[in-house]
Amino acid sequence: MGNELYFDNSATTRISEEALKTYLSVSREQYGNPSSLHGMGKDAEKVLSDARKTIAKTVGDTAGGTVLFTSGGTEANNLALFGRAHAKPRFKGKTILTTAGEHASVKMPLAELGKEGFRIVEIPTVGGRLDPDAIAKYATPDVILASVMLVNNETGALYDVPAVAAALRRNCPDAILHVDATQAYLKVPFSVKSLDCGLLTLSSHKIEGPKGTGALWVDPGVIKNRGLSPLLFGGGQESGLRSGTEDPASAAAFAKAAAIGFSALSERIARLTELRERLLAALSGDPRLSTLRVNQPPVFAPHIVSVTLPKIKSETMLHALSARGVFVSSGSACSSHGKHGTSALSAFGLSDADADATIRISFSHRNTVEQVDLLCEALAEEVGRLARFK
Ligand code: PMP
Repeated sequence: MGNELYFDNSATTRISEEALKTYLSVSREQYGNPSSLHGMGKDAEKVLSDARKTIAKTVGDTAGGTVLFTSGGTEANNLALFGRAHAKPRFKGKTILTTAGEHASVKMPLAELGKEGFRIVEIPTVGGRLDPDAIAKYATPDVILASVMLVNNETGALYDVPAVAAALRRNCPDAILHVDATQAYLKVPFSVKSLDCGLLTLSSHKIEGPKGTGALWVDPGVIKNRGLSPLLFGGGQESGLRSGTEDPASAAAFAKAAAIGFSALSERIARLTELRERLLAALSGDPRLSTLRVNQPPVFAPHIVSVTLPKIKSETMLHALSARGVFVSSGSACSSHGKHGTSALSAFGLSDADADATIRISFSHRNTVEQVDLLCEALAEEVGRLARFK
């Protein structure tokens, strides 16, 4: 730890010291079971409910929604999708609207729901933009759920979620909007109000909280109308929607990281933007990188840059950089074609060959411009070296 050039912050971040301290302190002091009726249980329950309030605040909830703690973004997405689709028998066979760019933790549950007979309709995301004609065309009255990510994890594209929300409001009386905000959370400003969503997915480890925890925020109307059913049955924890003894230490550490990120949001965005601009200037100014292409969406989050290095396999580049202590990700690694259907890069419009030659650079506010310069130098040297190899 210390000298690495870590540019894979969209894969995960290092837990902050403050979050770690919170985790240890709650684990040591408030170790009761939040469901226990005695004082130790009450103390743990108070830690949990404070964490819920903090998370609700960071997503701008003023309506009294419910924060359900989960094991992470993947579980929150699964709960949102299966939970909504299975909430009422009359939903069976109805339409679920989504985008071509979703993460596997949305795509795969929807593929399962497709097998159950639900009609899954995808809005194209060519160029990193939701096709407005498709939104209008596909927002039909039989839609019961729309699942749209706010920021794409591979390209950083910021999708026009409010446009989907408006179309649903107009035409789809039974629809709930689910937003996977895993990559957007504390990177771009938004609120559950501005998105007009009913369900919102968050993950802790992308924001310097502990791994293995996350949340699904649920609008009060969804709870009232019993519009969501559980995946896990048991002791009835988390409003009966996610049974299992809660983990107050993780929840509190997640909330700690969220509160810090929320209060520093504008400075962090400025910092990420500075890093991004430095990177783009360095890449475009280096003649050794003249074949490189940035996959730039029209509207984007500041922390993700997707770069295609034609004819160099992303995995080859990733390993070459890794050997020098520089860490990036191969854009299509965890969601490439085949197993998970079309990748977000293909949905962006890249050919299979270009998708396989694409790396993702993702920043933390803790990265420095000096580190960005070192990354660019390493990239340029490796492009030259790998070209000579051929
Ligand atoms: N959605 C998106 C957009 C993601 O980037 C990720 C993490 N790669 C997830 C969901 C899954 O989150 P978690 O790792 O917390 O399960």
